[in-house]
Amino acid sequence: MRFYNTLTKQIEEFKSIKPNYVGFYTCGPTVYHYAHIGNMRNYIGHDILEKTLEYLGYEVKRVMNITDVGHLSGDSDIGEDKMVQSAIKENKSVMEIAKFYTDAFFEDFKKLNCDMPDIIEPATNLIDFYIEIISDLLDKKIAYKSGGNIYFDISKASNYYALTNHNQNELLVGVRDDVELDKNKKNPGDFVLWFTKSKFKDQELKWDSPFGVGYPGWHMECSGISIKYLGEYLDIHGGGVDNIFPHHTNEIAQSEAYLGHKWCNYWFHNEFLNDESGKMSKSKGKILTVSTLESLGYNPLAFRFMCLNSHYRKQLVFSFSNLDSSVNQYNKLINKINSIKDDGILLEDLFDLYNKKFIDYISDDLNTANAISLIYDILKDDKVNNHTKLELIKNFDKVLSLNLITQTTKNENHEYIMKKIEERNEAKKNKNFELADKIRDDLKNDGIILLDTREGTTYKIEG
Ligand code: AMP
Ligand code: ZN
Repeated sequence: MRFYNTLTKQIEEFKSIKPNYVGFYTCGPTVYHYAHIGNMRNYIGHDILEKTLEYLGYEVKRVMNITDVGHLSGDSDIGEDKMVQSAIKENKSVMEIAKFYTDAFFEDFKKLNCDMPDIIEPATNLIDFYIEIISDLLDKKIAYKSGGNIYFDISKASNYYALTNHNQNELLVGVRDDVELDKNKKNPGDFVLWFTKSKFKDQELKWDSPFGVGYPGWHMECSGISIKYLGEYLDIHGGGVDNIFPHHTNEIAQSEAYLGHKWCNYWFHNEFLNDESGKMSKSKGKILTVSTLESLGYNPLAFRFMCLNSHYRKQLVFSFSNLDSSVNQYNKLINKINSIKDDGILLEDLFDLYNKKFIDYISDDLNTANAISLIYDILKDDKVNNHTKLELIKNFDKVLSLNLITQTTKNENHEYIMKKIEERNEAKKNKNFELADKIRDDLKNDGIILLDTREGTTYKIEG
């Protein structure tokens, strides 16, 4: 199994710390708003990695946080707490906001057939542990108190810029606003571990601590939750590419300073889903969710199919016309699989041959697009009998999770097609040829080809 490790900047053979076991941490959503389909692309990528490891025989323990405190509107300690801003806007308490958007997130997560992580932990549940870590960093003089807040001194980190491709000066451009805003920092790149004095205007959630009443900085939760549930040595930690800096960079700095040794071996990052105007972002306001797609008549799994047909490390541009063509491809594939009658015995040699190809593709930095095209090869291969075809597809779907066997498209239903044929006949009789053509084209888009014969109209499923 090989995938791209952001830490070493190369595709690497994966070696777990313990045999056949993987500790895998995923940065969860900030629950101040709905998660958009860009966020969900990131979680589909994580789901594929987890299921690939499981397909290869690893037991995976997956942990995810829910950010319900401390994530400010700017990632570098700029602005106000996003949760607080949302609570004020919606006239609710922070906890009400957190519950509402957490539930909405997991509803969409499940619609995409993403497996629930073994442990899901809201940031606000482990405050005592963050205080313990921060106290330790203060004792070690790696953290300092300034202007009431506690900061991490990045000059004390052994290799602070290890994860990012940027150099220090470039990064400082990114945090320049911060430099102007926060005069308490010794180095412009230092980051907050605990807020007390600043960022306190309307802060609703705050806790007592040896450093004063306050709340943790954003990065602390992922170090704390990960170490608590996955131990001092972590196999894989992942997120979107925007998490590389500052979030994951700061997580590494504080975790390794606390633990006194290297913490995580593999860093896994997913590229963005963009719209025409660039990166999809919650803060842009109007956002597209999986549930919205569903209410527009789209099967969420057609969106998953669209994501899996592109590589997770390439940016993907979302448009409804792209989604429409994914829907067509997905429906055609489903119709084709549905038309296979399960007969024959398992042809083990062919099963092993194609299963090995599948493993080669997904183990090659998660090449899901090739894995999907392999299904088309199998469907076309006359040497493979129906039973073996279905068994292969059933197995591949443990990773792809596209309901390849169980899904039915509405148009695969015989009665539905016959009804449409009648409607078309009626339209032709009324000389409404535009409608008649539309009915034929709509069915064609779903992979159903109408055949006008002397005996009347029949149909075939496109192969
Ligand atoms: P947030 O809820 O903003 O903390 O984001 C949740 C996850 O979604 C993070 O890991 C981000 O890196 C990721 N993410 C945010 N925007 C996008 C996007 N447009 N495409 C893909 N992933 C994204
Ligand atoms: Zn995180």
